[in-house]
Amino acid sequence: MINLDFGFTEEQIILRDSVRRFVREHVPEEYARKCDQEKIAPLEAFDKLAEMGWLGVAIPEQYGGSGLGFVELGIIMEELAYGLLELSVLVYRAAVHGAASLLTYGTEAQREAYLPLIAEGKFKSSMSLTEPNAGSDAAGIQTRAVADGDYFIINGQKIFNSQVDLANRTVLVTRTDPDAPAHKGMSLFFVDPHQPGVTIERLDTLCFRSVGTNRVTYEDVRVHKSDLLGQLNNGWKHLMTNLNKERFSVSVQVTGSAQQALDCATQYAKDRIQFGKPIGSFQAIQHKLADMQIQVHNSRLMVYDLARKLDAGVSCRTEASMTKVYTAEAYHKVADEGMQILGGYSMMPDFPMERHYRDCRIMRIGGGSSEVMRTSIAKDMGF
Ligand SMILES: Cc1cc2nc3c(=O)[nH]c(=O)nc-3n(C[C@H](O)[C@H](O)[C@H](O)COP(=O)(O)OP(=O)(O)OC[C@H]3O[C@@H](n4cnc5c(N)ncnc54)[C@H](O)[C@@H]3O)c2cc1C
Repeated sequence: MINLDFGFTEEQIILRDSVRRFVREHVPEEYARKCDQEKIAPLEAFDKLAEMGWLGVAIPEQYGGSGLGFVELGIIMEELAYGLLELSVLVYRAAVHGAASLLTYGTEAQREAYLPLIAEGKFKSSMSLTEPNAGSDAAGIQTRAVADGDYFIINGQKIFNSQVDLANRTVLVTRTDPDAPAHKGMSLFFVDPHQPGVTIERLDTLCFRSVGTNRVTYEDVRVHKSDLLGQLNNGWKHLMTNLNKERFSVSVQVTGSAQQALDCATQYAKDRIQFGKPIGSFQAIQHKLADMQIQVHNSRLMVYDLARKLDAGVSCRTEASMTKVYTAEAYHKVADEGMQILGGYSMMPDFPMERHYRDCRIMRIGGGSSEVMRTSIAKDMGF
């Protein structure tokens, strides 16, 4: 048996076990399957999470949170992703795109207005960066915000912006100085996406079918200057300060989901009889499971090493890129071999493996693709 405590403190182990019990009770496989198959967001489970006080885990006590850090937030996101990846994504959007953005570059008035609501689970956030012509090349965004007295007028279109339809506010990345070089002249706004001029369409995607992702069009949307998030024309720099936290969040989530896929495949290998024996008695299947276990274990070692570095405030850009590549690819390999172990039954929603096989695919693309991560790692190596 692997020792799964990883140098967690006694309090962190208690937290992990509590979240694990919560998932068993409130996020059973039937619930996760229903959310995915019927394309409904896991809002009941999210509201129950809020009652546990876990949404404010990394928010300072002065704003109604628990004042803990990324290890604790990671524990919560990992265990929730074991039940349903997209429930964990909802928490990530609130805790990182919402709370961490406000804490890093929001004004005191913005922090006081929103952080207590996020901690109480009464406020959902999302991130609106990607555009039809600006994906990996994010600095190429064209959505314009033009000053008009105390307001900015926003026009443009975003794509693949997850859960904007559920969000109270979205971090909207705009171009405020079109004459400046690409990485300059960008500004962030904390925008209510449910206002005149905003059109939100739900996209039909292979993955993320519960919470979903949107195409969002902004036509002459008026946003007050008090909703500027951070400094005018300094948006790119602000985005970069949160990048490691985003990469950590994706990594810890895929680790929880990969663990669930591994457990599912292990149980199936013990139960499924062929040639008069459990298929898990065949060495070919055992070796697949051993490789999957190695990948999940390494993922977990990497994510909590990164969490501790984030909490200590030490530089960890290379580690964040390496962790994102490794864990996303590990989840993909685990889900792929899981499909092989479950054979034809893997194709049906009776088992969670087909959901893993769909959900894992975006993780090598979103939040910085594996190619972009490798380029970033190589750059840090001096290339
Ligand atoms: C389900 C889903 C949810 C999402 N959620 C959000 C969200 O909430 N908010 C948001 O803003 N965005 C979101 N995204 C967008 C996601 O971050 C982008 O899809 C991602 O950044 C890649 O951009 P792209 O799809 O335009 O691909 P492209 O940038 O066109 O890339 C296509 C391929 O080319 C490769 N490539 C591109 N540039 C290079 C390079 N320089 N070197 C080597 N290879 C390169 C890529 O790695 C990839 O393999 C989501 C996407 C999906 C599908």
